[in-house]
Amino acid sequence: MGRAQRSRAAEGDTTKRRREKIGHEAPGTVLRGPPIAITCACGQRHSVPYGTVWTCPDCARVWDTSDVPREDYEAIRRITLRFRALPVALGLLVATIALFFILTGNTTAVFVLLPLTLMVWFTYLRDAHRRRYRAALAERQRWTLDSR
Ligand SMILES: [Zn+2]
Repeated sequence: MGRAQRSRAAEGDTTKRRREKIGHEAPGTVLRGPPIAITCACGQRHSVPYGTVWTCPDCARVWDTSDVPREDYEAIRRITLRFRALPVALGLLVATIALFFILTGNTTAVFVLLPLTLMVWFTYLRDAHRRRYRAALAERQRWTLDSR
């Protein structure tokens, strides 16, 4: 994946872009946290993982994302983790219930449970989940860093 493609993740200046973020994040975003979008003084933009030093290719200013306070960044990382964990937890719960039905010989119930869960998720839960996720991310902070 090219670096340019990653830059959408932390930027998200349109609703559509933030939507896409949920499905197409850079590897490691969930555990290591979302990338930090840097806007250079010259206008050049780039997203890098937290703790990375980035040198602007246009004006050679050097930006160090470890200047962002650790606790601020951790708060954002927790939002990403929390919202990512919910669908996973739901999936595991449904899988457990399905397994229970299979083990108790109630196979027919599985064929009701799985489509029903998917329907409920896509009809009600997914959009509400995305709305809350966007709202939580909209509160994310911006920092003004000094170039080196
Ligand atoms: Zn620059």
